[in-house]
Amino acid sequence: MLLKDKVAVITGASRGIGKAIAEKFAQNGAKLALISRSDGAIKLAQQLNDKGFTAKGYQLDVSDYQQAQQVGQQILQDFETVDILVNNAGITRDTLLLRMTEEDWDKVILVNLKSVFNMTKAFLPTMVRKRQGVFVNISSVVGRGGNAGQANYAASKAGIIGFTKSVAKEYGNRNIRANVIAPGFIETDMTKDLPEKVVQEYVQRIPLRRPGKPEDVASVALFLASDMSSYVTGQVINVCGGMDI
Ligand code: NAD
Repeated sequence: MLLKDKVAVITGASRGIGKAIAEKFAQNGAKLALISRSDGAIKLAQQLNDKGFTAKGYQLDVSDYQQAQQVGQQILQDFETVDILVNNAGITRDTLLLRMTEEDWDKVILVNLKSVFNMTKAFLPTMVRKRQGVFVNISSVVGRGGNAGQANYAASKAGIIGFTKSVAKEYGNRNIRANVIAPGFIETDMTKDLPEKVVQEYVQRIPLRRPGKPEDVASVALFLASDMSSYVTGQVINVCGGMDI
């Protein structure tokens, strides 16, 4: 019960990595505000409630600043406080830069990077007042190493790292921690349409010789959200099976 009675907000919680983090946090005693673009987070919250956990779902496009502030206020009313924010929502629009449209660029930056600003703004004042809070932001190994066909995605994920390190420096003296997880190749809906050949090429580059599972990322998120990491801030932790980036 590493998160007993802590209130955690998780974006992109309907499936994949976000869902695994929600389940892991629930099992560790957290009360959950789950967000997704679809009604998936509302459905997951219902399933968790049925199992005896405390969770509420919210439908929100995290790239919309005003909506994010409104839902943030609603969450603070519903739960009275917030201790942990996991910025996990993300999308890809992969294509070579020569073919990348302005819309491909803007959409990925808005959903992956601006959303982190939007959600952080919604909860930072409460955390500063309490002099306690934890941010866990989900980037990618691609944000550190770059990747052909993902200039927009890599830029958004690199931006998350700079943003998080800045939050860590600006609010460390208020007992607020901010860290990044950089997953490698994880089996989720986001990667399910990759051709088998590409998957095999990835696996050959991974010393542990398997794709990651959402639970592999969730375990590190639990560590970073809990007091187990009380002296860890401003860091990027790769969860990539040892893959070179
Ligand atoms: P996924 O596609 O399975 O899930 C994405 C989640 O984000 C969904 O719940 C979706 O509703 C939500 N979402 C997308 N746009 C949203 C919006 N505008 N507003 C609110 N919610 C929105 O993806 P996943 O593989 O679970 O990825 C989760 C995070 O991990 C992403 O940030 C992704 O970039 C990152 N990541 C994934 C991998 C991987 O290999 N799967 C690797 C590195 C990083």
